[in-house]
Amino acid sequence: MKIQAAVAPETGKPFQIEELELEDPRSDEILVRIVGTGLCHTDMLFKDHMPIPLPAVYGHEGAGVVEQVGENVSSLKPGDHVVLSYNSCGKCNTCLKGMPFYCQNFIGLNYGGARGDGSMPITRDGVPLYGCFFGQSSFATHSLANERNAVKVPEDIPLELLGPLGCGFLTGAGTVMNALKVRAGSSIAVYGTGAVGLSAVMGAKAAGCTVIIGVDIKENRLELARELGATHTINSAEKDPVGQIQAITGIGVDYSLETTAVPSVYRQAFESLEPTGECVLLGAPPIGTEVTFDMQSFLTGKKTRGVIEGDSIPQEFIPKMIELYRQGLFPFDKLVKSYPLEDINKAVEDSEKGVTIKPVIRFDS
Ligand SMILES: [Zn+2]
Ligand SMILES: [Zn+2]
Repeated sequence: MKIQAAVAPETGKPFQIEELELEDPRSDEILVRIVGTGLCHTDMLFKDHMPIPLPAVYGHEGAGVVEQVGENVSSLKPGDHVVLSYNSCGKCNTCLKGMPFYCQNFIGLNYGGARGDGSMPITRDGVPLYGCFFGQSSFATHSLANERNAVKVPEDIPLELLGPLGCGFLTGAGTVMNALKVRAGSSIAVYGTGAVGLSAVMGAKAAGCTVIIGVDIKENRLELARELGATHTINSAEKDPVGQIQAITGIGVDYSLETTAVPSVYRQAFESLEPTGECVLLGAPPIGTEVTFDMQSFLTGKKTRGVIEGDSIPQEFIPKMIELYRQGLFPFDKLVKSYPLEDINKAVEDSEKGVTIKPVIRFDS
């Protein structure tokens, strides 16, 4: 079928809207008419820094309506509202251990630019185009996904808003609730209050953290952090955040999150911990980025590790976030601003300037 898509033509160049051809779904795939797709930092990272050959179609926070299902698909049917998330194989050891977010085939299935078998379902004038980004490439009017990365969602919530639950919001809130499993009454510092950081702030509040410290260099984002549950905020362009956090807490926080992918910020996030505290890295740096820590600081039981997709299983966690939203405990709609497809480059610009926290590209049918 013919689709309209935002194509990343070459490194550093703006998206172009083009008409492309999309294959019919295979027996294990579903065809989704996309209603809205969040724009995530990872789309930009790949467009401008990572080695998927261009031109390519990105987009990995899609939400839409199932139009067609392959004959082996049993859990979804045409008309279902779905949120698309990351893809996983379901067969490797890590998937079998219940951790598809660290699937051993994660790179190929999400960043490979093609299906697992190397085939490419999107073509331009008969020539295959890189796609299948996170098993969806949803900067397009229609996407092919599969049962493992499509999550059925209730139909009474505006579908256009829900795409970022598949990646950005899943990452922030999931890290707090599923990876760190924060305890009620604990303290947490969130470095970087963009979409991921702010969803972590909301998740921390919903989970009962009583000291929630947002750290950023942009005042508008810190203001939003306070509105969404931060008990304290620190502008790290003006003040040393580690010293400030020690002043607020007496010794340091139980948990810290690094969402900026800046090595010096990661070190600050680690140094903000109290003994035995845990710091997690969520920011995705370009390959080869290195960071240094004072080895001595590990000898107080502090720990750190990276987290992908909030250690979250989409089918399990997305419905929970929707229920928290319904109850007013996870007001993610406050972060979202929608843009029509033709304004996707404006959405990128607004996101980079920090004017919009989470742009969603809207596909008006
Ligand atoms: Zn796997
Ligand atoms: Zn993402």
